[in-house]
Amino acid sequence: MGTVSLVTGGNRGLGFEICRQLAERGHTVLLSARSLDSAGTAARRLMGEGAEGGEVRPLLLDVTDDAGVKAAAERVADRYGRLDVLVNNAAITYDTWQRALTADLDVVREAAETNLYGPWRTARAFAALLRASAHPRMVNVSSEAGSLTGMAGGTPAYAVTKAALNALTRMLAAELGPDGVLVNAVCPGWVATDMGGAGGRPVDAGAAGVVWAATLPDTGPTGGFFRDGRPLPW
Ligand code: NAP
Repeated sequence: MGTVSLVTGGNRGLGFEICRQLAERGHTVLLSARSLDSAGTAARRLMGEGAEGGEVRPLLLDVTDDAGVKAAAERVADRYGRLDVLVNNAAITYDTWQRALTADLDVVREAAETNLYGPWRTARAFAALLRASAHPRMVNVSSEAGSLTGMAGGTPAYAVTKAALNALTRMLAAELGPDGVLVNAVCPGWVATDMGGAGGRPVDAGAAGVVWAATLPDTGPTGGFFRDGRPLPW
């Protein structure tokens, strides 16, 4: 079956394009989404494009749903017995309308549930399956908005949850390092998706940097923060 890769939020935007690029490389791609319908529609779309490549299969996975994430991991365990690549892509709330001092903390909490606890619970649920892989990789799709070096005011829910995701990336890299799992955070750059809006770069360019980290050789970096394969300041 070759390399088995799972992408969260794979039904649209960067996640969909990451699935396409991984399938083009021959991976068996588990295109996950929080609705099985939208995962199925997106997977059929990629399979219907007829390009040579790996299979794309839909998977239900809402990163905010503890039991659902565990159930998804059980399905992957039953079917494949391992996971080679986990791409934590799903995220919400690019809150350009908020400032830290006046932010609605319910909005911040809701963002954290998806942007921080989502990848965290997904990493926990799939850690055993990653350990069962010969060349495991994890990519946390982050943002330069979470870089402390350049941190300024604005987009507080998004920036703080991405900074925390970067911290989590360091911890997971350290804790999974002995098992050979390469764990990195990647900023795709400003990309023209529903979240990024018009004017960003094409989605294939943003996805390529994520796919780079998802397909690193065993000698590749871990515990890093990258855009387009080049390090970014934390
Ligand atoms: P997007 O177009 O808004 O897509 C977000 C995806 O996340 C959708 O598939 C959405 O599914 C999914 N999602 C949201 N909540 C979920 C949940 N609870 N469980 C599972 N999936 C969920 O965003 P994007 O631009 O592709 O962003 C992808 C990643 O790149 C994010 O991590 C984002 O922070 C990062 N990023 C984007 C940019 C940019 O300029 N676009 C820049 C830097 C970083 P539904 O269809 O069900 O809502």
